[in-house]
Amino acid sequence: MLLRCQDPELGHHLVLDVPERATVREVATLIRRELELDSPPALFAYLGPEAIAALAEHALIDGDCVTLPEDLPIVYVLKNMRDSRLPVYFRTFEISTEKLFQLRTRRFSQMGYDIRRIHDSTVLIGGVGLIGSEVAINLAVLGIGNIIAVDNGFVDWFNVYRQTAFSRTDVYLAKVDALKRRLVDFGNIKVEAMLFDVPSWRSTDSRDELVRRIGVLDEAIARSDLIVGAFDSFSPRALLQSLCLIRKRPFLATALEPEVGQVMLYEKPEDGCYCCGLPNPQDGRWVEGGACTLASLDSQRIVGAIATKVAIEKVTGQKIHANEFRYNHRTSEIGTATHRASRLCSLCGPAGAVRSQIGDAKPLRKIAEWLFTDSR
Ligand SMILES: [Zn+2]
Repeated sequence: MLLRCQDPELGHHLVLDVPERATVREVATLIRRELELDSPPALFAYLGPEAIAALAEHALIDGDCVTLPEDLPIVYVLKNMRDSRLPVYFRTFEISTEKLFQLRTRRFSQMGYDIRRIHDSTVLIGGVGLIGSEVAINLAVLGIGNIIAVDNGFVDWFNVYRQTAFSRTDVYLAKVDALKRRLVDFGNIKVEAMLFDVPSWRSTDSRDELVRRIGVLDEAIARSDLIVGAFDSFSPRALLQSLCLIRKRPFLATALEPEVGQVMLYEKPEDGCYCCGLPNPQDGRWVEGGACTLASLDSQRIVGAIATKVAIEKVTGQKIHANEFRYNHRTSEIGTATHRASRLCSLCGPAGAVRSQIGDAKPLRKIAEWLFTDSR
């Protein structure tokens, strides 16, 4: 059968010979081929009230203009035109950012994701390597509105493609800048690229400089709804955790080892904190981790996906049924657990660095003393 199509903006008129049983997708493919377009056109039509009611759940509708779902038979469209003299319209120009956002998040929305709330959230991601960049991309796919990316690293030849956000043209760029470039391309997202060396046990700064830099981080955490700790070493994660306790922000820590991946959420006082069960850094520093680059691809992807899931549940105020998740690469098992506060914790315990700072005018200095001045 013959189908009249028109691009109202660019003025293309086409008469296509399409199969009786063609869907909107097949018509879009024919138009794309006919006009040698770089991307498929979006098809829309002015339909009658019955069709609009029937499609309300499945299509973007503006008045009586319906953006046609790709699985819809074109015969259905023709039978339900508001006026049979009208053509089927298509757009070939660059889709608007707002429209793209609506389209790309629509199915998540139908699935039950609270896209509006996700979009209004700010997530700070500390460390945008193997897990952090993965979580950032996933959150952007789900429509997050604001990401603060904190990292002082640069993309190298070992990172590209393995770290999903980075490709060969990003090599030697700051990871936060390359990630920002990638995410901004999604549209409808604000990304703050903080090229920042989070104080750690490697830092050689003076005490005052440490406190100043902790203050910079603290200011960013105060603006965030959730903090993800995805650094490959302990002390930056411990620092993020201490600031989250001071600011009363949920802290999501991720860890990858060759065999086991972990996601841990610390929010309520009874959850304890990342440092519960770890020795007091005042008694000597822990051996800094760093084996995460040896993790398997399945561990990386699964831990990234679980961390994303928990982050979304957290920022949309859903109930989370466990506060610890483990993936075992050898057995392919995912398990949950519940961690509890330790009264002996040197950070969140009754005599810990955070609790004992109540009434103290300089909590950041106290944290610096707890984490960075050991008694050796
Ligand atoms: Zn603790």
